[in-house]
Amino acid sequence: MLVLSGTRWHGGAVLAAFFVSSNLISRIPHGRPVTGLDPKSDRRDHWQVYANGAAAAIGGIVGLIDFGLGLWLVTSTLAAAAADTWATTVGRWSPVPPRLIWSGRSVPAGTSGGMTPAGTAGAAAGALIVAGIGAVAAGMPVLLPVATLIGFFAMVTDSTLGALLQGRFYCETCKVASEWRVHRCGSQTTRESGRAWLNNDGVNFLATVMAGGAALVTWHWLSPQG
Ligand SMILES: [Zn+2]
Repeated sequence: MLVLSGTRWHGGAVLAAFFVSSNLISRIPHGRPVTGLDPKSDRRDHWQVYANGAAAAIGGIVGLIDFGLGLWLVTSTLAAAAADTWATTVGRWSPVPPRLIWSGRSVPAGTSGGMTPAGTAGAAAGALIVAGIGAVAAGMPVLLPVATLIGFFAMVTDSTLGALLQGRFYCETCKVASEWRVHRCGSQTTRESGRAWLNNDGVNFLATVMAGGAALVTWHWLSPQG
């Protein structure tokens, strides 16, 4: 609603590009059962929507004051959200297990902070689609490379925060790793590492807010209107 009110159909088109492309990519059958951690990747609860969309909503509010800047922010933050969503989805097709960014340690599929070549390529593709629609809607070609790069590096930031800071838990009842304080079986989990208060939604939120910050900086340097 905020994106539409501040950046009209232009921002709406970017929002649609994010939702439609993320939805379509998740429907491609890949024949690999989700293993390892909680199958949370298809989760689309309200927290996840806030985590991915809050920065774009702020961009929508900015659009009420400065339309061009608002659209620039909406496109960049949604490119970041798309990069993360696509990385998660395409990463599940990976024939090789993910590795933690920087340390290179191999981790079970679905682990936050784990990266695969397939997921990384998916992140770039997702960011590119959203950035492309934003660049066309805004009539600002430079937004294509800018938002693609911001989206891609937001995914790298997301993976870094996920690997270093996100809380990791263990369910004693099910004897499996979990990313949640309460496992889906209903049992309280025990913390193994990371910050207990920082979950995947928090990491997504931080990464998209950082994307917004990067967009704000690039607006003044690179946009035709900044
Ligand atoms: Zn459990």
